Amino acid sequence: MKATRVLQSLARQHNAARAYSTVHDLPRSGSTGLSQPPPPAPQGGDPSTAFQRATTASGPRNDWTKEEIAHIHQTPLMELAFAAGTLHRRFHEPGRVQLCTLMNIKTGGCSEDCSYCAQSSRYNTGLKATKLSTVDSVLEAARIAKGNGSNRFCMGAAWRDMRGRKSGLKNIVQMVKGVREMGMEACVTLGMLNKEQALELKEAGLTAYNHNLDTSREHYPNVITTRSYDERLETIENVRQAGIHVCSGGILGLGETPQTDHVGLIHTLATLPLHPESFPVNRLVAIPNTPMYGSEPVKLEDLVRCIATARLVMPKTIVRLAAGRVEMPESEQMLCFMAGANAIFTGEKMLTTPCNGWDEDKAMFERWGLQPMHTQASEVPSEKVFEARSFDEMKEKSENAPVMN
Ligand code: SF4
Repeated sequence: MKATRVLQSLARQHNAARAYSTVHDLPRSGSTGLSQPPPPAPQGGDPSTAFQRATTASGPRNDWTKEEIAHIHQTPLMELAFAAGTLHRRFHEPGRVQLCTLMNIKTGGCSEDCSYCAQSSRYNTGLKATKLSTVDSVLEAARIAKGNGSNRFCMGAAWRDMRGRKSGLKNIVQMVKGVREMGMEACVTLGMLNKEQALELKEAGLTAYNHNLDTSREHYPNVITTRSYDERLETIENVRQAGIHVCSGGILGLGETPQTDHVGLIHTLATLPLHPESFPVNRLVAIPNTPMYGSEPVKLEDLVRCIATARLVMPKTIVRLAAGRVEMPESEQMLCFMAGANAIFTGEKMLTTPCNGWDEDKAMFERWGLQPMHTQASEVPSEKVFEARSFDEMKEKSENAPVMN
């Protein structure tokens, strides 16, 4: 009887931790979640305890210092990857990886100067600019993606922001509604967004909005000059306030220093009042005639370090192995999954660059015993979920919140 009570109490603690889950909530078997020691008492910002605190966390925390994240990031790689994989098993079903398909719904001709991008009109990349795709053609592509097992359909438009794009937004609203009616998650990436536009997309049922920070605040001016880091954060806040999931991550291989810039990127996102539900990790796909062409490719160890660190400091976030996967041998991809990545882009193309095809990914899943993740993100809260204006406010709210059993 005593043993039963102990197990019940541990299960309650475990479920309380799971109650934060926003993207998916699959029951998991086994005792991995129950065998972990309880989280230690908060230690302040002592980096020497950061790794231990991360590996024993029972839920997300948002008061990370940069030193703590740097300490985690510099843990010997075998230990770091193993710890991230172990924590991953406490918050996610380890054999499940989400399949997403990303379609470009408006190609090229973008006014921005993102120095890695094939679609910027400032670089002669040979890409032909197009108008916004029709709603029917986009929904047909979504149907094909769904038929091939994708659970999330993402739509990207190459432009700076949504200003003066009323009819474009109207069509995108129809695309979002159509994708959602198919039972898939719908994500869009349309540049900068104001509050009203975010609410309109929320109303249409949008699951998530992608707006990457790309790199650290310090390195950012070396990559983009036409919009600021703070403008990016403002869009993320507008998305969050509208009650839409946030998808925000980075591109590795932009001439940054991993030890500081990967840490800086993760630190910015991990100290937002709520962690992004999705953290895409892109490897630069070098496009001839863009300023980033010829940059030193990101090293595997830096990619795995970044994924593992993100997993440890944002334990509930879906970490997406995004652009550039097509160039990775399967063994390297597996290393990323083992270190905490749990989503991929699959299909014919990823925006303008090649992508691993569905058949190739299905075969890979079979070889490694992976299964598509069936998210329930369809259950995006209808109420606003973001009310805190600062971490202190959020902390106060969470401390006063009733304990969930
Ligand atoms: S805003 Fe988007 S489409 Fe435009 S240049 Fe930057 S990354 Fe490319």
